[in-house]
Amino acid sequence: MNKKILFFIGFISIILLLSIKYTNRSDSDSISTDGSVASEEYEKMKIAITFDDGPGPYTERLLDGLLERNVKATFFLIGESAEQYPDVVKRMHEEGHLIGNHTYSHIELACVPLQKAVEEINKTNNIIKEITGEDIEYIRPPYGYWTKELAKNVDMEPVLWDVDPRDWSVLDEQKVTCHIVKNIEEDDIILLHDIFETSVDAALNVIDILQLNGYEFVTVEELYG
Ligand SMILES: [Zn+2]
Repeated sequence: MNKKILFFIGFISIILLLSIKYTNRSDSDSISTDGSVASEEYEKMKIAITFDDGPGPYTERLLDGLLERNVKATFFLIGESAEQYPDVVKRMHEEGHLIGNHTYSHIELACVPLQKAVEEINKTNNIIKEITGEDIEYIRPPYGYWTKELAKNVDMEPVLWDVDPRDWSVLDEQKVTCHIVKNIEEDDIILLHDIFETSVDAALNVIDILQLNGYEFVTVEELYG
């Protein structure tokens, strides 16, 4: 056989062997040790959705929607509303939501005598504990006002927020949804009020959209932890 032809056959064989070896190696890279094809794994971005001023007439509908979507939320309750809706408070607790304090009558804590402020907080803690059997650790001070004096006198963790669509004023499901989706970032806390029907609808919309966008809803406690 002609030397040139032999050389050509040899050259082609080497190329073929190299290409088979390369193909096999890249196949084994994408198959894990148990033989299954490895999927792209990533950590979900955690955020917390919080509801103030309830419970109210729409809270049960919200709880149904959260249960359907397997989402745990955080509720900052007004003491006098908790007294009106004890079964709803019980359900929140049983379904794994975090319950916090939002004072007994929604007072601005910085504008009343310290003794009155402490009374509003303790009374609410007692009402909730009587229903759920759990101590309350977190407080959302109405209007976000918390003072050093209060911190010295009440052993509670104040929780503010990052994303505020002003749902109580906007009262528009689409606008509230859009504000939250556009402004959310990892580790953010969303502020909503479950006493408005539009806010409950917006909350469920937001959950559907953000879960698809790679976010995971957790309680404030889990976010802080
Ligand atoms: Zn409030």
